[in-house]
Amino acid sequence: MAICGASIAASDRAPGADHGILGANTVGVEGIGMQLDPASGWCHGVQVCPSPNFNERPAGEISLLVIHNISLPPAQFATGKVQEFFQNRLDVTEHPYFAGIADLRVSAHFLIERDGSVTQFVSCLERAWHAGVSMFEGRETCNDFSVGIELEGTDDLPFTDAQYQALITLTRQLQTAFPAITGARICGHSDIAPGRKTDPGPAFDWARYRAALAQEEGQ
Ligand SMILES: [Zn+2]
Repeated sequence: MAICGASIAASDRAPGADHGILGANTVGVEGIGMQLDPASGWCHGVQVCPSPNFNERPAGEISLLVIHNISLPPAQFATGKVQEFFQNRLDVTEHPYFAGIADLRVSAHFLIERDGSVTQFVSCLERAWHAGVSMFEGRETCNDFSVGIELEGTDDLPFTDAQYQALITLTRQLQTAFPAITGARICGHSDIAPGRKTDPGPAFDWARYRAALAQEEGQ
């Protein structure tokens, strides 16, 4: 399996590139942002770290965005271990915490690290394994119809400005590509799995995030 690669070069190795969907010449032209290709579900201009943990969306529907947080080991950042976890490459001998999770087969579509760097693991067109047992407005199994974004962090530590900036940019890209993801259909993991999950946690500033989205919409 491909190991994670850096931004521009990595796009050449993205799964879509094998089918000519992603072209290196379209990446890095602006040098400033990401560009989500709705046809492939892959985002240009971000790091690509393909995860094997996905399957087909049963109805092809993409109509919900779920915000999470994760850090491995907990509260340690920029370790590269989240990427390893989503690629089933976590070395259980490296940290006691890893022993309890190494056998899990999970993924998210995106990870936003503390410095705002974005990594994509699964095409948005595919079903990533981030929500688990969950329900949104009476519908179960939210993985079927949602996109999952992991913010590197914990429930209680403030997220960084760079993370909010990247999250807002990525959210706008997702809403443009998949218009069914309206503002009312953006939620936290804790909203769809209450009692089981607490992320993104009280440190996530929903008001800031939603205000920024509304502002961009109005421009
Ligand atoms: Zn979560």
